[in-house]
Amino acid sequence: MRRWARAEEIVKQLEEACATPVERLRLVAEAMAAEMRAGLAVEGGSRVRMLPSFVDKLPTGDEEGLFYGLDLGGTNFRVLRVQLGGRGRRVTAQENKQVAIPPSLMFGKSDELFDFIAKELANFVASEGNDFEMQEGRQRELGFTFSFPIKQSSVSAGTLVKWTKGFNIDETVGRDVSVELTKAMERQHLDMRIAALVNDSVGTLAGGRYYEEDVSLGVILGTGTNAAYAESSDAMPKWHGLLPTSEEMVVNMEWGNFKSCHLPITEYDQGLDCESINPGEQACMYLGELVRRVLLKLAEEAYLFGNIVPPKLKEPFILITPDIAAMHRDTTSDLAVVANKLKKIFEIEGVALEIRKNVIKICDAITGRAARLAAAGIVGVLLKQGRLGSKKQHQKAVVAVDGGLFERYTAFNKCVEMTVKELLGEEASRSIVVKLANDGSGIGAALLAASHSQYS
Ligand code: ADP
Repeated sequence: MRRWARAEEIVKQLEEACATPVERLRLVAEAMAAEMRAGLAVEGGSRVRMLPSFVDKLPTGDEEGLFYGLDLGGTNFRVLRVQLGGRGRRVTAQENKQVAIPPSLMFGKSDELFDFIAKELANFVASEGNDFEMQEGRQRELGFTFSFPIKQSSVSAGTLVKWTKGFNIDETVGRDVSVELTKAMERQHLDMRIAALVNDSVGTLAGGRYYEEDVSLGVILGTGTNAAYAESSDAMPKWHGLLPTSEEMVVNMEWGNFKSCHLPITEYDQGLDCESINPGEQACMYLGELVRRVLLKLAEEAYLFGNIVPPKLKEPFILITPDIAAMHRDTTSDLAVVANKLKKIFEIEGVALEIRKNVIKICDAITGRAARLAAAGIVGVLLKQGRLGSKKQHQKAVVAVDGGLFERYTAFNKCVEMTVKELLGEEASRSIVVKLANDGSGIGAALLAASHSQYS
């Protein structure tokens, strides 16, 4: 077969394999709702784990005082403080600082990592200015966003199940990360109580709810994906006894593990999955790597970039999502940005315009699928919440989304929003809003410290 014909065939097959017609997305949304019910019914009932967060009081906007937040979920962590002025005044002052974690601490000793974090936090506390005011005789309180798998035992305590995202410190596994941080703070003579330990999806829900009471779902679309919402105690048989007094508790869904026979799977996902350190998890989020795999196939089978396969094309993870986002929004008539990226990243030069157009098609297929599936997940939760096709239908619901992918990849976030509308139909979509809750997860932790304060 001629080269070009083979190339077109590969791209067409990809588009077909990534196709997510609305009927299929409805099935995905229904499957998500069913998995949620199964996950709530019994421990281990679903891959969607529906973990209790123990958060039973989301912030309302009435909170007052000075609260701290600490957000650790990758190679940077952030510390922040907020001064809350109560009803009508909300956040009267806010400051934050981002700190890079020295790579050596990511696989060193547990105490060294927590000492480093506590020291930065103590320095940050020491720089508290006049805009912030701690009430006499009160202890400072902290909300800790810790976005690694933990087994939560109370709203402020949980043991580390395993490190991910490049961290690997055996000693910490099985330990309560709140206790580890508290001990490190004591070593720094920092008198601070951890009032809430949450993951980023719970923080996003809390951050969204503080500003708008209609926020019913917090979603992360960043390096990974997850979601959290408040569930009524009656709907969670597996938690009997956990919540003697409250009517609701926030559920950390861990929806990144969701699987369904309705998901469109391509050979590129399967290839990535087989070679992944976490097979079966979140494969369709590695957008850049999937695009690279398609380009590699085009090079190997259609000789699209010459008679030899450009060596850089064989390097896993060399193509990152911000690069495909940049190619995807290339509006130049000759797709100069695409040409530039192919040259810079893969050292491929002189790519014909027709080929550049196909690169855009590939980005479109891979990104469009991920965005449409994220939308189906959101609609699945709305379905489970009974917000569709029932009397709650006209009640406004806001979905607060945080994460770099949603925030910075315009084609992606537009597609999520449009697909939610497409799935809901005109009538229902009038009352559902999907919006960016920028830095919801960071500020959310401080707000949860406020709503779970020992003084409230
Ligand atoms: P994390 O999820 O690790 O806490 P972020 O919320 O910042 O961190 O999300 C990082 C994700 O956002 C990565 O997948 C990254 O590739 C993606 N991202 C960052 N910048 C951009 C961009 N300009 N365009 C598209 N994706 C981006």
